[in-house]
Amino acid sequence: MLQKTVTMAATKRVALVAHDNKKKELVAWCQKHHKDLAPHTLYGTGTTGAVIERDAGLTINKLISGPLGGDQQIGALITEGKVDFLIFFWDPFEPLPHDPDVKALLRIAAVWNIPVACNPASADVMVYSTLFRGSFDRQVPDYEGYLKERLGN
Ligand code: PGA
Repeated sequence: MLQKTVTMAATKRVALVAHDNKKKELVAWCQKHHKDLAPHTLYGTGTTGAVIERDAGLTINKLISGPLGGDQQIGALITEGKVDFLIFFWDPFEPLPHDPDVKALLRIAAVWNIPVACNPASADVMVYSTLFRGSFDRQVPDYEGYLKERLGN
């Protein structure tokens, strides 16, 4: 597929999601990285966002709860180029009724070449990267080119 380059600004749009058994871990991670996260624009699924605001004192743009469509809202933001990083602590031990959402969100993050962290160690590497604080270029699908190709012109 044709690709194009987009530049991510120094201030990032970061989406935060954790399944129920992982919420404490994500809150602890947010507390540890409060100063790294605070300058950025943060999004979260409903419950994750609310517990991070309450227990880690960060401001979160809260979407609807994951099982009610919040994961898909984040996927839509990624597709629209409005989310730059995904921190998604999904639960590897408990298949959830809304597992297709998990797969869909990870898939769309792969399509749009979004850095994804699924556990605290990866999330540490992410926030300690100079790319988290500075601007950097990312290859994404060139939708206009893709459409031209599909329409045969
Ligand atoms: P929640 O959704 O933050 O509303 O719990 C997370 C999820 O299960 O995807």
